[in-house]
Amino acid sequence: MNPKFRLILELRQSGVSDNNVLRVIEEMPREVFVPEALKHNANENTPLPIGYGQTISQPLVVGLMTQALRLNNRIKVLEIGTGSGYQAAILSKLCRRVYTMERHRPLLQEAEQRFREMAFPNITAIAGDGTLGWPEQAPFERILVTAAAIDIPEILVDQLAPGGIMVIPVGDEIYTQRIMRVTKTDDGIETEDLGGVRFVPLLPGMGDEEDKG
Ligand code: SAH
Repeated sequence: MNPKFRLILELRQSGVSDNNVLRVIEEMPREVFVPEALKHNANENTPLPIGYGQTISQPLVVGLMTQALRLNNRIKVLEIGTGSGYQAAILSKLCRRVYTMERHRPLLQEAEQRFREMAFPNITAIAGDGTLGWPEQAPFERILVTAAAIDIPEILVDQLAPGGIMVIPVGDEIYTQRIMRVTKTDDGIETEDLGGVRFVPLLPGMGDEEDKG
């Protein structure tokens, strides 16, 4: 079977039921977002290293988190953790506008290069510390955090529009992380646990010191 079809079948069997999300994953060339040496693994349902100790997420996790956001073409999304740019590219096909932030400048530059080459007019990317959100562009109808936080960050909840949804992996240890869906209501937040996951940590500040080391 064609590896892309096999991947889509696997995502469907594992709980990705939103046909728009499946179509966008099917059409998006993941090989463009991974290092040259790993391009032949791009259609496998696994995370892959992208440098600086970071990874492009497993396609299943991209599918489940994207589906959990309940996107439509009127929505503005903030993504924290641009990484390769793959998740931002998927989001951009399902919403009005994507703002994405990355603390490792070299990763951000590579992702921006891909956004230009592949012409994603509705993605705006900056190097920045996502734990502070992007106050100049807030509020956002959706926020997707693609690195694991210790807790639900209040700063990000503040930047959600009323009724907005944030999807975020939460947990202080790699084996206990859960994907949480946080909905902002009139009197606070409602949270739902969408299952276990493993992400690299959400770290404060910029990654420049680690880049040197
Ligand atoms: N969404 C990415 C995968 C993300 S991996 C993709 O599709 O490829 C998690 C990313 O979050 C890493 O690149 C890491 O550097 C970044 N990150 C961690 N803490 C951050 C922070 N405080 N602000 C911005 N980015 C952060």
